Amino acid sequence: MESHRFEADVRQILHLVTHSLYSDREIFLRELVSNASDALDRARFEGLSRGELRPAAGEPGVRVTVDKDARTVTISDDGAGLSHAQAVEHLGTIARSGTKAFATMLKDRGESAEGLIGQFGVGFYSAFMVAEKVEVHSLSADPNEAAIHWTSDGGEAYELTAGTRQERGTDVILHMRDEAMEFCDTDRLRAIVAKHSDYVSWPVLIGGDRANQESALWTRSPSEVTDDEYIALYKHLSGDWQDPLTWVHVRGEGSVEYAAVLFIPRKRPWELDRLDYKVGVKLYQKRVKVLENAGELVPRNLRFVTGVVDSTDVELNMSREILQQTGAVRAIRKQLTKKVLRKMSELAGADAEAYNHLWEEYGHILKEGIQEDQEGVKEQLVELLRYPTTTSDGALRSLKDVKESLKDGQDAIWYYTNVDKERIGRAAVLEGFKKRSWEVLLMSDPVDEWVVMALSDFDGTALKSVATGDLPATADEVDDAETKAAKEQATPLVTWMAGLLKGDVAEVRLSGRLTDSPSVLVDQAGGLGSNMERILRAANQQVSGSKRVLEVNPEHPMVKTLARLNADGQTGLEPFARLLLDHAAIAEGRLEDPEGFAHRLQGLMETAARGLAAGAASGASAVEAEVLSADGTPV
Ligand code: ADP
Ligand code: MG
Repeated sequence: MESHRFEADVRQILHLVTHSLYSDREIFLRELVSNASDALDRARFEGLSRGELRPAAGEPGVRVTVDKDARTVTISDDGAGLSHAQAVEHLGTIARSGTKAFATMLKDRGESAEGLIGQFGVGFYSAFMVAEKVEVHSLSADPNEAAIHWTSDGGEAYELTAGTRQERGTDVILHMRDEAMEFCDTDRLRAIVAKHSDYVSWPVLIGGDRANQESALWTRSPSEVTDDEYIALYKHLSGDWQDPLTWVHVRGEGSVEYAAVLFIPRKRPWELDRLDYKVGVKLYQKRVKVLENAGELVPRNLRFVTGVVDSTDVELNMSREILQQTGAVRAIRKQLTKKVLRKMSELAGADAEAYNHLWEEYGHILKEGIQEDQEGVKEQLVELLRYPTTTSDGALRSLKDVKESLKDGQDAIWYYTNVDKERIGRAAVLEGFKKRSWEVLLMSDPVDEWVVMALSDFDGTALKSVATGDLPATADEVDDAETKAAKEQATPLVTWMAGLLKGDVAEVRLSGRLTDSPSVLVDQAGGLGSNMERILRAANQQVSGSKRVLEVNPEHPMVKTLARLNADGQTGLEPFARLLLDHAAIAEGRLEDPEGFAHRLQGLMETAARGLAAGAASGASAVEAEVLSADGTPV
C-alpha cells in the first residue's frame, strides 16, 4: 500500500470543498460525467493517432449506477483511463495554479461553487462535496500500463495500489455522506444529467437508459432548443461560470453541410491578445470531437468566439492537428462571420447596454478586421464601430449617429486619433471644433490608425483627421474686424518664426482651430502622423520622425503682444518664439527637448523677475513685464 500526501494546493481545495461548498452539490455529477466524457474523447484521439490501444469493453459511453445498500454512486467510463503516474499527477496535484484565486473568490465574493469549480479546473474534487470516501479503479488504454486503485477520504492523503479493472476505462466510486443520500436515487441522477450534461456527446446511461439527448444540440432545430440548454452547452465547452453574452445557432446553407453554435463570452479571456492564443471553437464530426481548437473556422478578429462546428465536409491534416484550408473551410468561415456580425448588430439595436459591454470587451479586436477584410464584411464591421466623441460625454456613438448630427456647414465626419486615452478629449487641436459644437470621434486604440486608413468615407461622407490639415472657416464664419486685424498683425511674426524654427518644424502658420491655447502642434497632411509614429515606436519599429506643423493662435493675448513687439522691431524675442513651440509640445505631453526647455524657462524667469523689479522700482513700463502680462495690454 502506497500512501501519498496531496499537494498543498489540493489540500486547500479539498478543505474548501468539504467545508464550505454545499449550495450546488448536484454539480458533482456534471463534473464527473464531464471527466468521463473527456476521457472517452481522449481515448478516441489516441486511437486515431497511435492505433495500439486496449479496446473498449463494448459500446463506449458513461454509466452511472447506484447501490443503495452499499450507499454508493459509481460513474464508469470506457475512456483513456489513468496510469499510476497519471493518477499521482492528475488526482494529486493541480496543473493550473488557480487555487489562491479560487479560494479568495470564494471567500470574498461568495460566488457560487458551481462556477468556480469548473472555472479552476478542480472538478474531480467536487466528488468530496457528497462523498466521504472516493475510490477510483482505472485501467489505462495504454497496453503498457497496469490497473490502479486510488482511494481517499478527502483529507491530507490518498492511497494508491495495484488495481483489478480488466477493461480500459475508469470507475469513480462515491461512498455517499449521510447528508447526501438523496443522490442515491436514479431518478434524481437522471434529472441532474438532463439539466447539466445533456449536451455530452457520449451516451450517459442510468439504469440502462440513456439520460442525455441522443441528438447533439447543434443538430437540432434552433426553435427546439431552450436558452438554458445553450447556456449549459456553453459552460460545458468553455469552463466559464458566467452565462454567455449571446450566441448564434447556424445550420449549413448551400454547398457545405455543417451545424454550429457559437457563443460570445461575457468576459474577454486574458490571453486573447497573445499571438499564440488558441481559438475556443471546437470541431466535431458526427457529434464526435475531432479538434479542440479549430481557429481556421473563424477570422482572427472574431477569435474571442467559442463554440462548436460540426461538419464532415472539412478535412484535417495528416497529424490531425489543423484543418486543411479547403473551399469548405473558407465557406463556413465566411458564413459564420456574417452570422456573428449580424447577431452583434441585432444586439446593438435591441439592447444598447449589452452591446456597449460587448464593444468594451471586444471592440479593439473586432476592428482589426476592417483593414484586412478577408471575409468581405467591412461594411458590417464599420456599422459596429463605437467611439466616445467630443460631445457625447463618454457615451459611445456610431458613425451613423455622428453623421446624423452633422452641423450646417460641416461636410465631413472628423476624428482624432491619440493613444493617450486620458488626454485625448482635452487636446488643444479640438478647441475650434468644440467652439462650433462639431462632434469629433475620439479614437484612442492603436488599431484605430489602421481603421481610418481603410476608411476614406462613411456612407458618402468624408472622414477627416483633426490632427492634419487646418480647420477651414465655414461660409458663415466671416472674420470680424478684430480677428482680421489680429491675423494681419500676426502674419509677419509667423514668417519670422518659420525662419527661426526651420530646423524644428515643417511649417509655422496661423491657426483657425484654437480658442484658449496660444499654439498647437499638428501633423503634415499626407505624412505618417505623430500618433502612428508613436504606436510604431512602441512596437519597436524604426520610424524616421517627420516634422510637424506649429500653428499659432493670432487672437491669443500672448501672441498678440509678441506680434506687436516683433512689428516694432523689438529684439530678444527668440526665447518666446521657442516657448510657443515648447508649450505646444508640453500640452501634448511630448516634450522632446526638456533640457532646452528648462534653460529657456529659466532665462525667461530671470527676465521676468528683473522686469517686475524694475516695474516696482520705477513704475515705468518694461518690455519684459509687458510680454508676460496676462491680458496682453501694456503694463
Ligand atoms: P479537469 O477536468 O479540468 O482537467 P478535474 O479535476 O475534473 O480537472 O480532473 C483532473 C484530471 O484527472 C483530468 O484532467 C484527467 O486527467 C483526470 N481524470 C479525472 N477523471 C478521469 C476519468 N474518468 N478518466 C481519466 N482521467 C480522469
Ligand atoms: Mg473536469
